[in-house]
Amino acid sequence: MAGQIYAGHSRCYDAIVVGAGIQGLFAAYQLAKRGQKTLLLEQFPLPHTRGSSQGQSRIIRSAYPQDYYILMMGEAYRLWAALEAEAGVKLYRPTPMLVLGHQENPKFQNYRQSIERHHIPSEAFTPQALAQKFSGFYPHGGEMAVSDLSAGVLYANKALQAVQDQFQRQGGTVHDGEKVLNILPGALVTVSTSQGEYQAKRLVVTAGPWTNRLLAPLGLQLPLQPLRISVCYWKAKGQGHGSHRSLEQFPCFLSAGLSGHAHDVYGLPSDEYPGLVKICYHHGSPVDPDQPDQLGHASAVPDVRILQDFVRKYLPGLEPEPAVQERCLYTNTPDEDFVLDRHPRFRNIIIGAGFSGHGFKFAPVIGKILCELSLGEEPFYNLAPFQISRFSTPSKANL
Ligand SMILES: Cc1cc2nc3c(=O)[nH]c(=O)nc-3n(C[C@H](O)[C@H](O)[C@H](O)COP(=O)(O)OP(=O)(O)OC[C@H]3O[C@@H](n4cnc5c(N)ncnc54)[C@H](O)[C@@H]3O)c2cc1C
Repeated sequence: MAGQIYAGHSRCYDAIVVGAGIQGLFAAYQLAKRGQKTLLLEQFPLPHTRGSSQGQSRIIRSAYPQDYYILMMGEAYRLWAALEAEAGVKLYRPTPMLVLGHQENPKFQNYRQSIERHHIPSEAFTPQALAQKFSGFYPHGGEMAVSDLSAGVLYANKALQAVQDQFQRQGGTVHDGEKVLNILPGALVTVSTSQGEYQAKRLVVTAGPWTNRLLAPLGLQLPLQPLRISVCYWKAKGQGHGSHRSLEQFPCFLSAGLSGHAHDVYGLPSDEYPGLVKICYHHGSPVDPDQPDQLGHASAVPDVRILQDFVRKYLPGLEPEPAVQERCLYTNTPDEDFVLDRHPRFRNIIIGAGFSGHGFKFAPVIGKILCELSLGEEPFYNLAPFQISRFSTPSKANL
């Protein structure tokens, strides 16, 4: 598809979506399902590994301290199942998720209370009970675990392909290898790309770490921080050390406010590298998404060292050196809540951004919300936590 010449194709659409990560794909798919003639523009040839959505695995879970995320997850699970059925592809494997924390820690308590309040199937584990059920985890004085039994592993790359296929099956058009260079607002939005010019009644911007580049000519800059995340895969120590009887049985886990950690650590059984588990720090170093290899030394986060300390302390059955190290990008907001909103001035331009390292599981619902906003509808959810106006100082040049 990259480099294709579109002579003769209509350049006028009902909707254009910029960015074919998981959020743009779902937004485009929803628009096409609603009968909108939709163009999805992606700067890189698909599939690619330079954004936030690539990889084999992502955690899906209901457990969140915030009620508004738990509410959205109810629909997200239904929509993932509907996509599986429509595409005829398995996209999810149930896998329990442990939340590890100190029983007195407010963040851990928030998880426990919201799990109870929303009747999420769950079990609580003392360190002894945890050792019996999930050997290999060693909580320390006063720490414990609570599980989310609704959780699982989403097959991320398969999901990307499935949504793209269903979008195209609905009549949607994908132009990959075609970078959006400029957006001119108006009743008909004009989008200039590396290969041409298009117009549409509505535009959805889901450009991940590149979002502010596209918003600059629209007089808007959001407090979005692209971060480089070290994606580390770990192997079990040799037979005999034996705390990990079987890494295939390894649960998903998330640390919640463990002492000594400014940010949390999470892990999941690895589909990328059989026999290894994937454990990452939920934070990273500020980076330019076009130059992910160049980090400013002053702001570099010692994420791999933090992970090594975590593995030594909590998962001593694993080798404390990552066997494989890759990278991926987050786009963080200051409060780690998403941006799902209309442009403050150009109401037919919709922005979905700032997914802060936890947006994949929500993508079917986010796509639906972005579609509804772009059609001038009011989504079912209270979108106050996701509005642009919550930022005290978004720079709104020329608004
Ligand atoms: C290591 C890692 C682990 C994660 N784990 C989880 C997890 O367990 N559970 C979970 O729910 N979430 C998780 N996430 C977060 C989740 O993956 C992201 O929130 C989600 O993928 C964000 O998708 P996106 O579509 O916004 O961004 P992206 O995937 O980055 O997509 C944006 C797209 O826009 C394109 N684009 C940008 N500018 C232009 C332009 N000018 N013209 C055309 N195209 C353009 C880009 O090329 C890119 O393809 C994780 C993320 C990482 C990195």
